[in-house]
This record gives sequence, structure tokens and C-alpha cells, in this order.
Amino acid sequence: MEECIFCAIARGEMKAAIVHEDEEVVAFKDIEPQAPVHILIIPKRHIAGLAEMTPEDEAVVGRIAGLSRKLAERFSFSQCGFRLVANSGPDAGQAVAHLHFHLLGGRKFRWPPG
Ligand code: 5GP
Ligand code: ZN
Repeated sequence: MEECIFCAIARGEMKAAIVHEDEEVVAFKDIEPQAPVHILIIPKRHIAGLAEMTPEDEAVVGRIAGLSRKLAERFSFSQCGFRLVANSGPDAGQAVAHLHFHLLGGRKFRWPPG
């Protein structure tokens, strides 16, 4: 496997503004924020993306969804609204081939996203 920047962040070898870490997931601030709060939530284990998931990976995605709720409460946008997004593949603009969910909050979002 080529060097994966999100694996390096998960191992603590690359700097990131980490807001949550446990044995299975890490959450850190996006370097190019698209909202007042823009956090990336990743599994520590390398999974290339949604399209490459196996049934064994489903539990950690549930854990990420649960963590998004807790972070939304912590950053005070749980009630006014927030967005949890995972881009998969080139048409969706996935740039990093390590499964990650964008947690965005602190402003209004349009739908459809375009
Ligand atoms: P994607 O387009 O793959 O869904 O999202 C990748 C995200 O990772 C982008 O929002 C980008 O700003 C962010 N990103 C890329 N490299 C780094 C990095 O080294 N550190 C952090 N914190 N975010 C990164
Ligand atoms: Zn990785």
C-alpha cells in the first residue's frame, strides 16, 4: 500500500488537530475547512472507502455515526443542524483513499449539494 496520510495521522506520525481519539476511530480538523466546524472522522484501520468496505467494517461506521452525534453536541450544533458526508470515488471527488466522514456544522447548507 502506498503511504496513506490518514493512516499516518491515525498512528500519530503526522500532525493533526485531533478532537477525539479512541481505540478504533480518530477525529481531527480538516486543513481546508468548508464550514466553521469541519471535522474528519476516520477508522484507525485502513479502509479505502465506502465502495471497498467489507461486512466486518460496518460496526466501525456505526461507531463513527454515534461519534458524530457526540461531537455535534460538543460543538453546539446538534439541534440547529449539521451534515455528515462521505465522498466515494472520482465522481464524488474522493481525494484521500482512506474512509473518512466529513462532519460539517456552524452554518446553513444547501440541498442538493451540487
Ligand atoms: P475528500 O475529498 O477525499 O472527501 O476529502 C479529503 C479531505 O481531507 C479534504 O477536505 C482535505 O481538506 C482534507 N485533507 C487532505 N489532507 C489533509 C491533511 O494532511 N490533514 C488534514 N487535517 N486534512 C487533510
Ligand atoms: Zn490509510
